[in-house]
Amino acid sequence: MSFHSVSREALIGSATLGLIFITGYYIGNSRSRRYRMNTFKSHVGRKDDPVMQYLLSHSMREHPALKKLRLKTLEHKWNSIMVACEQSQFMANLARLIKAKKAIEIGVYTGYNALSIALALPEDGKVVACDVSEEYPNIGRPFWKEAGVEHKIDLRLQPALKTLDELLAAGEAETFDFVFIDADKQNYDNYYEKSLQLLRKGGIIAIDNVLWGGRVVNPAEDDLDTQAIDKLNKKLHTDVRVTLSMLTVGDGLTLAFKL
Ligand code: CA
Repeated sequence: MSFHSVSREALIGSATLGLIFITGYYIGNSRSRRYRMNTFKSHVGRKDDPVMQYLLSHSMREHPALKKLRLKTLEHKWNSIMVACEQSQFMANLARLIKAKKAIEIGVYTGYNALSIALALPEDGKVVACDVSEEYPNIGRPFWKEAGVEHKIDLRLQPALKTLDELLAAGEAETFDFVFIDADKQNYDNYYEKSLQLLRKGGIIAIDNVLWGGRVVNPAEDDLDTQAIDKLNKKLHTDVRVTLSMLTVGDGLTLAFKL
């Protein structure tokens, strides 16, 4: 879930990327029904799309602390960079599928996704959460604690490349199961290469914002972020070290499975 860099991503100038989905849920008794609005958020640009609302209201199974953190994050000025909740839930399920125990999150923001992954890991699992700011993760920390998984989230407050190098130097190459890359776009390839070294065979690297609001189709000459994403997308397409999927969930999600 997001920044750090985060990218301050899409934010910028991209109000269209941040969306709030509304779904009603029933409260009260059979005689006096009323609906209270609950908000879901995604980057997809499908605000008010009833099918998207249906999808969210029929699939989201957020832990209560996750839901509280999502709603808290929606109050924050950078909320458009928060990972889409359905994407986060999907990645947590992938982590469960491969029985992940060690994960890395590059770009934490308020820690919605770090919490989601931590909940998917076993009791002795660990998420190395990389960010350069303590301010935003501090918003999420009380919710990590409430969910009882704060001990699984190892927050490293320094440039992520430094943390990845430290993990490699500590002999942790090929020991991680899952990596989520969602930080400054011009370092995406560096994050990918170091993550691939840290990943075990069969592990998964998930890369966020690979469609970048559609700008990757025709990157502008002065748009270095889009160019960096497009360059990595092209490289991954023929990278024989992994098998690949690119999904349209959120703002585009690439999954690279290490061979
Ligand atoms: Ca993102």
